[in-house]
Amino acid sequence: MVSKVIFGRGCFNQLADILSPRRLNTKAPFIFFVDDVFKGNSWLTSRIPLSYDDKLVYVSTKEEPKTSQIDQLVEDIILTYKERPSGIIGIGGGSVLDIAKAVAIMLNNDGESKDYQGWDLVNTEAVYHVGIPTISGTGAEVSRTTILTGPERKLGINSDFTPFDQVLLDPELTKDVPKDQWFYTGMDCFVHCIESLNGTYLNAFSKSYGEKALELCKEIFIDNDCTDEESQDKLMMASWHGGMSIAYSQVGVAHAMSYGLSYLLGIKHGIGNCIVFDHLEDYYPEGVALFKVMKKKHNITLPQCICANLSDEEFDIMIDVALSLEPLWENAIGKQWKKIITKEKLKALYLKM
Ligand code: NAD
Ligand code: ZN
Repeated sequence: MVSKVIFGRGCFNQLADILSPRRLNTKAPFIFFVDDVFKGNSWLTSRIPLSYDDKLVYVSTKEEPKTSQIDQLVEDIILTYKERPSGIIGIGGGSVLDIAKAVAIMLNNDGESKDYQGWDLVNTEAVYHVGIPTISGTGAEVSRTTILTGPERKLGINSDFTPFDQVLLDPELTKDVPKDQWFYTGMDCFVHCIESLNGTYLNAFSKSYGEKALELCKEIFIDNDCTDEESQDKLMMASWHGGMSIAYSQVGVAHAMSYGLSYLLGIKHGIGNCIVFDHLEDYYPEGVALFKVMKKKHNITLPQCICANLSDEEFDIMIDVALSLEPLWENAIGKQWKKIITKEKLKALYLKM
């Protein structure tokens, strides 16, 4: 679990107070990874407390984080500074938060980041790391994974050393998120709730968080029609609770298939989940019905026929990526999932997208 968290509009201003006791010495910098959407945005960047050798690194989110990108960032830091950094701070959406987590881990663990994709492969504690979300939904701020696309697969580094040491939740930072992206990333949270609450791994811990997150999602996306301040606050908490819910259970069919789309076609997580979930009425009938109501209410048009021109080999790649995520299928379907989920079934589903 994340050991320290603060919440509130404007709490971003407390960042300097939070970081200063953590500075190891003047030669051990804080490295800030910031979504490049904030380049030139002095409202945010002027409040990032840089001193001594601290560095601000803008990160593009055009593509989702890759293992090669993490290895390069880590090498740059090691070559530039004599000392290990005092801390790594990620300011952005799920992509930037995951980059901060992965870099913090790899600064203290030998080898390449692809070697740690999987469950509980990290041996040494990460460098102190702080997460500051600027868009709500992924739950990356609270989860024990950092999802990376490697040479062979898209898979998280899931470990006890992955979660942030400190999270700063300031809903004001989400005020300029574009409407479509607000929906896609918000639906990531909704899908987390549905997959967790309908999974075989469900337990009282996950259920209590999942139910709260789902209730908040319904208030935000169905009862309300806006992205006003109250909705921003609520979505930030929904994301947190949705993340907590899957931390102690698992995601399911939509995520497994969306990873396939992402690996082969580079389709991003939020929109990818929406594209898949739209066709999962056989697996999550109530959730999909609700999703369609929200999609209509917010005038969202999803891309169609994205798999229309794929070759058999390409389908195989997507299906293999999806099927390799065994815990997700076991959670969704049960221990006997291999008898129920076939390659043909997944191909038929992908063909609908
Ligand atoms: P993202 O980080 O790519 O951000 C989406 C878009 O919103 C980007 O274009 C970004 O520049 C923009 N944006 C962010 N904050 C903004 C702001 N305040 N104002 C204007 N624009 C803003 O996408 P995401 O949906 O947040 O995250 C997706 C990533 O998170 C994927 O890589 C996915 O694998 C990962 N993920 C991780 C976890 C986890 O537990 N670690 C969970 C779910 C998803
Ligand atoms: Zn997700």
